[in-house]
Amino acid sequence: MSLSFSEILHQEQFSRNDLTRMLGSEGEDRSMLFARSSEIKQKFVGNKVFYRGLIEFSNICAKDCLYCGIRKSNGEVDRYNLSDDEIVGAARFAYENNYGSIALQSGELESPAFTERVSKLLRKIKNISDGKLGITISLGEQNEEVYREWFEAGAHRYLLRIESSNPDFYRTIHPQDDLHRFERRLESLRLLQKTGYQTGTGVMIGLPGQTLAHLADDLLFIRDLDIDMVGMGPYIEHANTPLASRNNELIPLLDRFDLSLKMVASLRILIKDINIAAATALQAIDPLGREKAIKIGANIIMPNITPGMYRDSYSLYENKPCTDDSAEDCKGCLEARLNLADADIGYGEWGDSPHFALRNAKGDI
Ligand code: SAM
Repeated sequence: MSLSFSEILHQEQFSRNDLTRMLGSEGEDRSMLFARSSEIKQKFVGNKVFYRGLIEFSNICAKDCLYCGIRKSNGEVDRYNLSDDEIVGAARFAYENNYGSIALQSGELESPAFTERVSKLLRKIKNISDGKLGITISLGEQNEEVYREWFEAGAHRYLLRIESSNPDFYRTIHPQDDLHRFERRLESLRLLQKTGYQTGTGVMIGLPGQTLAHLADDLLFIRDLDIDMVGMGPYIEHANTPLASRNNELIPLLDRFDLSLKMVASLRILIKDINIAAATALQAIDPLGREKAIKIGANIIMPNITPGMYRDSYSLYENKPCTDDSAEDCKGCLEARLNLADADIGYGEWGDSPHFALRNAKGDI
């Protein structure tokens, strides 16, 4: 006997078919999906939203991902690299404004000099905040020793999107060479967990050739890997990338936006106690995009605190929001928006993933 949509939403276990149905829901079913995910969010992670002040400290990248505006081969980008003082200054802003945590992100580089620089920065940031600022890093694929060194220097959360959990599909959006191997990305996630990080991953939504079944499998992948936190958002085309040649295969931007909300809602229903970020890319499509994601399941937001003059150059995709604002402007604006979404801001708190705490208590780490 086949289950009604409401019965599907109230199950404890979800099949690939159930998830595909949730992702394809429209009308009343879609409203039911969002109502159920909000209810689960309230029950398992509450009303609080936690900040990760985002510092995009360099757009220099060794990789050539076919979708990304800061890929190595894009000669149109002004490359920048913030000074250590600018990075520590942005971290100090986050600390003094009670953000609780920062996230350090850059293009992907692997070198002893880069490793050493990041370690030094992590120690400095811990130092100026009396150990109180939580630090997430998102610095791509590295060796186990590098992950360990950064963990010991003070980073405790790591975000590495798998981009797509299907190895064949992954190959369609990356160059075929040693720098872009699916297997290494997957292995990196395992190494991060082994090192002791709260480990985050995620995918892009609405890529050319991607199906609802691919996305349902991505959600199951996140569950099976026992991931603690997720950042996922819509794919937004960038004219200076090879994937732009497939723009004619894309679903409209607003549909990508809606599908991203359904991914957030379905993930919240599938894994109830993880941290889910409201991706910045949502805001590139809808000015209230992140707040909408918060309403239906997300509980993390990453206000951009990169010094304003550099923000334009970290253009992963077209129409990236808030590139002209200062960190101060963003703060007031975001607070007002989150109030509208009925969320409380967890000022001064790390807002660690409850899923991680449980994994820890069970001794899985
Ligand atoms: N290099 C680091 C890494 O891969 O972990 C972090 C920087 S990378 C630019 C951050 C994320 O941007 C990627 O994981 C990817 O999902 C996202 N991204 C890149 N191009 C995008 C696009 N055109 N649309 C939406 N998201 C994009």
